[in-house]
Amino acid sequence: MRYLGKKVAGVPATDGAGVKLKRVIGSPALDMVDPFLMLDEFGSDDPASWIAGFPEHPHRGFETVTIMLDGRVKHADSVGNQGVIEAGDVQWMTAGSGIIHSEMPERAEGRLRGFQLWVNLPGKLKMIAPRYQDVRAERIAAATGNGATARVIAGEAFGVKGAADTLMPVRLLDVKVDANAAFEIDVPDEHACFIYVYEGAVRVTDRNGNPVDVVSGTLALLVGNDGVRLEAGESGAKLLFADGKPIREPIARYGPFVMNTREEVQKAFEDYSRGELVSA
Ligand code: MN
Repeated sequence: MRYLGKKVAGVPATDGAGVKLKRVIGSPALDMVDPFLMLDEFGSDDPASWIAGFPEHPHRGFETVTIMLDGRVKHADSVGNQGVIEAGDVQWMTAGSGIIHSEMPERAEGRLRGFQLWVNLPGKLKMIAPRYQDVRAERIAAATGNGATARVIAGEAFGVKGAADTLMPVRLLDVKVDANAAFEIDVPDEHACFIYVYEGAVRVTDRNGNPVDVVSGTLALLVGNDGVRLEAGESGAKLLFADGKPIREPIARYGPFVMNTREEVQKAFEDYSRGELVSA
């Protein structure tokens, strides 16, 4: 059974045109979980904290995955895609060689909540053609059993195939564990694995087998071999579960560009400033 390698709370950050968010992966406390480069939790009941959104900006060299829990975000990009991501929907975007897009809240009141996860690509895939997968909530099948429900966004779980088509061995689940139930799942030994609890709490064990609670707003890195067991208490829990095969390549990242070398990042900036980031 895997055990707790590290526990990290999200730290407040500001991105886009002033959106307040919680950065969970991609902070000094947790630089990355190869192949996952970044995890942000965004949103609150206060529109002032998010209404400015993410106006037009570029990406190159990786994938962005947006998971909406509440609210509506309008998306438009340089490939010509456009749409609204609503509660329960996921957008899996492969920036590849380059994309310029905007991500803007659709309404000015109510609650907005969701996540953005960045998945790295290996050097040989960094410059592939951009791709956008609009994964509607109804297309995301759920695997249920033992008091837990896992919406299979990507990868495969309990025989249920993920709705998003992935380029790399990556699994992403949105899991609800009922009160006093446990969620158990196998994970390939070579994969990195984390959970991010966004409601309630789950109990895992440390390397000595002692119980540790992982509460809402906390990421737990689960290391070791075999599967994962997450026990929920009386409040139950909701969490993101992710595992993936580490890419183990050098990383040069700056803002919206994640490449293998500094020269490649420099080139991305130059291409963007010359209006050549997006190949026609
Ligand atoms: Mn973006």
